[in-house]
Amino acid sequence: MDFIDIHTHKKQLSENVFSVANKYPVSLDFTSPFSIGIHPWFINKNKIEAELLILAKKLQHKNCVALGECGLDKVIKTDFELQKTVFKKQIQLSEKYQKPLIIHCVKAYQDIVELKKELKPTQVWLVHGFNKNWQVAQSLLKNGILLSFGTAMINHKKLQEVVAKVPLEKLFLETDDKDDAIVEVYVKLAKLKGVPLEILQQKIQENFKQLFLKTT
Ligand SMILES: [Zn+2]
Repeated sequence: MDFIDIHTHKKQLSENVFSVANKYPVSLDFTSPFSIGIHPWFINKNKIEAELLILAKKLQHKNCVALGECGLDKVIKTDFELQKTVFKKQIQLSEKYQKPLIIHCVKAYQDIVELKKELKPTQVWLVHGFNKNWQVAQSLLKNGILLSFGTAMINHKKLQEVVAKVPLEKLFLETDDKDDAIVEVYVKLAKLKGVPLEILQQKIQENFKQLFLKTT
């Protein structure tokens, strides 16, 4: 695993990339490393209990590395309290089965921070696809929440300034639903950090093993 793609909706294309494929309760293929969760976009009131049971089962699968993506989204129409309830139930599962949480968050950063303070989880929380300013990044980091950066970083100047300030042990990289290769995201970050690509690979790999695979 030269490169780790912590969150992707695509099939793993290259031998030297370790991809964490995002799955849903309706997914059928669990033959490669995956994360699974109820995305706030796809909450269906009548299916929640059944889906949580599927999650509990899949979290015990040998290829499961995380719970998610799940989280909070203030732009969609789904009732926010319902989103919170579903998110909290997934936090409980993440704690029970000792799986890190991959979080989808849109305009609800303060709510995420408050939940973290309230519930004091032992598992890693990682906000994926982070593309906000340094102030938001800082408030998440200060509360022990890690950040994952995607392809937006390749061309987004302001985001580059943010990611340059985030300590290497607090971040991961991803391609999400984009076609760009994870290698390009690594190369960009290495440049921004002024570190050789190999060092970056090594560092992220160490963090991944320690936090997600729980080996050292
Ligand atoms: Zn995603």
